[in-house]
Amino acid sequence: MKYYDKLIFELSKDGRTGYSLPENRWPDKEDGLPDVLKRTSSADLPQVSEPDVVRHYVNLSDMNFGVDTGFYPLGSCTMKYNPKINEEMSSYHGFAGLHPLQPADTVQGALQIYGELSGWLCALTGMSAFTLNPFAGAHGELTGLMIMRSYHISRGDSGRTRIIVPDSAHGTNPASAAVCGLEVVQVKSTAEGLIDIEDLKPLLDDTVAGIMMTNPNTLGLFEKEIHEIEECVHAAGGLLYYDGANMNALLGKVRPGDMGFDIMHLNLHKTFSTPHGGGGPGAGPVGVAGRLEHLLPEPVVTLSPETGKYVISGQPQGAGRISGFMGNFGVLIKAYAYILSLGKQNVRNVGPYSVLAANYVKESLKDSYKLPIPSLCKHEFVFDGLAKANTGDNGTEVTTLDVAKRLLDYGFHAPTIYFPLLFHQSIMIEPTETESKETLDAFIDAMEKIAGEAVSSPSILKEAPHNTPVSRPDETLAATHPVLTFRQRKSSDNRS
Ligand SMILES: *Cc1c(COP(=O)(O)O)cnc(C)c1O
Repeated sequence: MKYYDKLIFELSKDGRTGYSLPENRWPDKEDGLPDVLKRTSSADLPQVSEPDVVRHYVNLSDMNFGVDTGFYPLGSCTMKYNPKINEEMSSYHGFAGLHPLQPADTVQGALQIYGELSGWLCALTGMSAFTLNPFAGAHGELTGLMIMRSYHISRGDSGRTRIIVPDSAHGTNPASAAVCGLEVVQVKSTAEGLIDIEDLKPLLDDTVAGIMMTNPNTLGLFEKEIHEIEECVHAAGGLLYYDGANMNALLGKVRPGDMGFDIMHLNLHKTFSTPHGGGGPGAGPVGVAGRLEHLLPEPVVTLSPETGKYVISGQPQGAGRISGFMGNFGVLIKAYAYILSLGKQNVRNVGPYSVLAANYVKESLKDSYKLPIPSLCKHEFVFDGLAKANTGDNGTEVTTLDVAKRLLDYGFHAPTIYFPLLFHQSIMIEPTETESKETLDAFIDAMEKIAGEAVSSPSILKEAPHNTPVSRPDETLAATHPVLTFRQRKSSDNRS
């Protein structure tokens, strides 16, 4: 029996406690709380001892998988190892204890970090200014697109309401564009997985606000025609937006600013080593070219040349305020510590090592899995399912989902599956630069074993995972009817 078979949620025993409060020394004194705020019935919390609580939560955390417990090759979502020193830095009381309304004079150190981090991001991307205020990648996209719209409108060019997005784009791109009130126009990919310039050209007219791109794109391929794309879009009066959520492959090598992009966002919680998953916290800084600087959201942090002090100011022509105060400051500190600890030289190694790791895994597995686009990839690549598979006892053939489930039995997190939508059985793998050759070899070995099982014993895959606390949950039900209380599940909650 495994520990999780014993994991029960009803631990409460009447009268058991894990705390003790001091005696009320003034039993006769009014407590001053208005009656309406006073509880009239018990809060009905579980009555448990401290060891009960500690064991319960530690056991629960053991049921989880994280980048600290194993390899996490999630394509389009860089899950690199997050050095612990970053956590330590961001939890310093001097940072964590700051109040967001403190006068600028009393938080000069924090503002210096904001200013210096913006400067480093400019240096790494070739943009001329950054706001660190947005809370996530998608939030950065929305901010960037608002800047794009303001730019056109401020020049009296108000008919630009369409945005071009490649069919391989991350789902947040069209979603952010729609939230920003732009109409999404898809541009097709060529058979090699790159933007089809002949499809792009006729789309470019005076109703186009710009194009949103990722380079390397979602298939991990570098858009070789980026200069021609840039010329065409700019010639038509549009702007180029760069989705830099996964900047790993380029870090220290190539800069979106040099490719001609006007606006971009970064995901500090992917490329710059903040733990993510489970909903946050993140940061999606937005960088812009010089002619768009005045359109950034407020507040902005600048170093006054006269006083040598950092000041917080408004931005009258800008996109307004898009977040409370100045973003997720703790995440900014982690990115700052990460860049500082890598230093100039090692930042340059992130790109080459992540590209090497991806190509190594791709080349090692290309006989066992279908590789629709065989060219050299950047930080990630896509398989289109197994090369060979048989049918399980339930009469259906082994699919990408079964491979992903079986990987859990081998102790690896599954890659991204069924995305991008260009292929039916997509398996998208991004190993990252933080993994050793031994880890990559162990993963390759597991993937090969699974490919063998798909032929010799397909039912093992169909019923996988066999060793995890939860086997195959009903994902729709889990999302639409999450059970978030500690109380025992009723049979009507129905969970597998
Ligand atoms: C993750 C990701 C996003 C969205 O970032 P969030 O922080 O999840 O909003 C956007 N684009 C790409 C390419 C991504 O990988």
